[in-house]
Amino acid sequence: MFCVECGKETTIYKNGACISCYLKNKTFSLGPLVIDIMVCTGCQSYKYKKTWIEESFDAVLLRCIRDEFTINNELQNVDITTTCDNQERIRSCKVTITGTISDQTITEEHPLTVRIKRATCEMCSRQYGGYYEATIQIRTDKRKFSKEELATMKKHVEKLIETMRTKGNRGLFITESEEIHGGLDFNLSEKGSAYSIAKKIYEHYGGEIKQSSKNVGMKDCIQLYRMTYLIRLPAYQKGDFISYKNTFYIISSLAESTVHVVNLSDGTKNAFDGKKLEDATVLGGKELIKEMIFVSQSPTEIQIMNPKTYEIVYVKKPKHFTIDEEKIKVIWIEDQVFFLPEKI
Ligand SMILES: [Zn+2]
Ligand SMILES: [Zn+2]
Repeated sequence: MFCVECGKETTIYKNGACISCYLKNKTFSLGPLVIDIMVCTGCQSYKYKKTWIEESFDAVLLRCIRDEFTINNELQNVDITTTCDNQERIRSCKVTITGTISDQTITEEHPLTVRIKRATCEMCSRQYGGYYEATIQIRTDKRKFSKEELATMKKHVEKLIETMRTKGNRGLFITESEEIHGGLDFNLSEKGSAYSIAKKIYEHYGGEIKQSSKNVGMKDCIQLYRMTYLIRLPAYQKGDFISYKNTFYIISSLAESTVHVVNLSDGTKNAFDGKKLEDATVLGGKELIKEMIFVSQSPTEIQIMNPKTYEIVYVKKPKHFTIDEEKIKVIWIEDQVFFLPEKI
């Protein structure tokens, strides 16, 4: 067949023309010269359609190009790339669209000006406005938080929030957090998430959890409530020594309302309901652990020496207890000496 345009005898691609004549003076993509993209000055997210997304500028630009450019569907295996200068407000970009048609590769370039508009997203304006739906209060029972414990607790809550945010909950944030009444308060933007966080803290540290709500007025004909989730941590924490019904224990773990302990006299494990242990006496933590020097042992007794006072103490040997080290850790409670359980 002869091409109607160049007259050569060759394969006809379309409308009586060969492929090279068909491609001549034909473009397969078309787009605007200017695109506006909105950026939040608070969190640097970009507005795409009606939502704010945390993606790179290039990724958002690509989304806009896909929406606003028209690409002829004769073009196969389409690939779009962009290069932009680094200007803050008005960026000059080049959009390169490549694809294939028949066995020919087509590359088309378009200049594009991207105007970056500054705005504040709903989330940032809420955050700046001090918006919150719930307060998490963390308190202790019959004891004070140590500075260290407060810091750990604060980090734990912040980490939980961060995880929820990275999983896609952009609307969750801390409006305010403060050390108050010897504990911690967190004002959070979402009550549902605040409840899950409070529950996780309670599951991890034990104690009790209480919730209350407060009417904070009307908005758009809806009654608004602000929630308070109070977590009261027990008087003891993991690793503490307690005395309960004339028996001494070490707390091995806490979860929700169950407290796992190890009996210091015989190494047996036990679990108590947290409510019952409210009557227990907290003796102290790791400061009660002392290092002693092993002197000798008989089948029933072990002799140890206090390295500071050289005082020798005889301790009844617990069942299945063997010593192969020179130094030995004991807990000294009210004139009684216990060996630190190997496994707690
Ligand atoms: Zn031709
Ligand atoms: Zn923002």
